[in-house]
Amino acid sequence: MQKIYLDHSATTPLDSQVLKKMQPYLTDIFGNASSVHSFGQGAMKGVDWAREQLSQLFGCKFKEIIFTSGATESNNLVLQGLLAAFRKNNEQSAAAKAAADKGKFHIITSQIEHPAILEPCQELVKQGLAEVTYVGVNKLGLVNLPEIKKAIKANTILVSIMYVNNEVGTIQPIKEIGRMIEKVNKERSKKYETENKKFGVFDRVYFHIDAVQAVNYCEMRADFLKADLMTISGHKIYGPKGVGALYIRENTPLKSVTFGGHQEYNVRPGTYNVAGIVGLGAAVELVNNQSPITNDQILKLRNKLIACLKKKIPNIQLNGDLENRVPSNANISFKNAEGESMLLMLDLEDIAVSTGSACASGSLEPSHVLRAMGIPADICHASLRFTLGKGTTKKEIDKVIEILPKIVARLRQMSPLKK
Ligand SMILES: *Cc1c(COP(=O)(O)O)cnc(C)c1O
Repeated sequence: MQKIYLDHSATTPLDSQVLKKMQPYLTDIFGNASSVHSFGQGAMKGVDWAREQLSQLFGCKFKEIIFTSGATESNNLVLQGLLAAFRKNNEQSAAAKAAADKGKFHIITSQIEHPAILEPCQELVKQGLAEVTYVGVNKLGLVNLPEIKKAIKANTILVSIMYVNNEVGTIQPIKEIGRMIEKVNKERSKKYETENKKFGVFDRVYFHIDAVQAVNYCEMRADFLKADLMTISGHKIYGPKGVGALYIRENTPLKSVTFGGHQEYNVRPGTYNVAGIVGLGAAVELVNNQSPITNDQILKLRNKLIACLKKKIPNIQLNGDLENRVPSNANISFKNAEGESMLLMLDLEDIAVSTGSACASGSLEPSHVLRAMGIPADICHASLRFTLGKGTTKKEIDKVIEILPKIVARLRQMSPLKK
């Protein structure tokens, strides 16, 4: 039997149709998309085609999309670029005036974000440029809307909440958060109406969604979600690694944080990664044309995995909300069996899972997501994340259901913690 891959939230295999679309841009169509001659134009055609696919996904204009090197860069650009734009506009916006007291703008995010949000936030705080509120989650891993609303202050410029959590798969109430922020902005614009007339639409709370894990499963139209900024990544949706994108609503102030070229509307300079961008476009095209049956199949297999493991293994718990959850994710704690040991023993059986996020593995710290959900440290350490993909088969799930109970039993027998 072939190796079994159940770590699709870490990365996905490249879809063969995506590879086919990319191939000419790695060989014949090698021009620099910014060149004026036909070689350049050929390459730019690929970039434009990809932009078209993404504008369909977000339901947005062509020019509201920029390509980046991945979601980590997109997230950094949002946090640093928005802050830089507000700082440049100092003294003009009402938020700037409110911030002027302490010289800091305010950002709201959640405790369960990906490190690609949390760490740039920590960096901005360290540099003395921003203050950040990290809202918590309930025991099912969902943020609380009133808590976000309560955290908004006069100097708040950004709310950044992930759409789907990468460890427990919970779908956050994004649409509701978007509507709440819109309401807040309406009240704000009334309050500062005369001032803001002078300075345009600058003075608002902007809403960013790290939507990396949502693309395959959730509504992505920016207008519907009331999003100003949305981040996606190629390699989480059967596209290539090292390419991502950022949706930026027209008139959103975002200052470039890298310099050296005019590409991507002066916001993200650098030579186009043409093949990568075409690959991202092709991956998004697959999403745009996806039949709902694919996700139904994933859901069925995931539910079978949970149900059968629960039946065969005592003392286990599913982490996160079963309702508001993407179909691909099962995060399960096996009391008194160590996560890392289970992972290694499964790997010996050619089954690949993870203990949390790929970025956190290798560290002995328990998952910050599970901790934020109030799960005790020993249960966090006993957790495995299974993430299924469109290629996952019933046979593969059956094999996991057959093998894992034996592994857990063996580990529990050896555990000094056993009852
Ligand atoms: C994987 C991931 C990222 C980072 O994406 P890269 O393209 O690998 O930089 C950011 N946010 C979430 C939620 C992710 O799952």
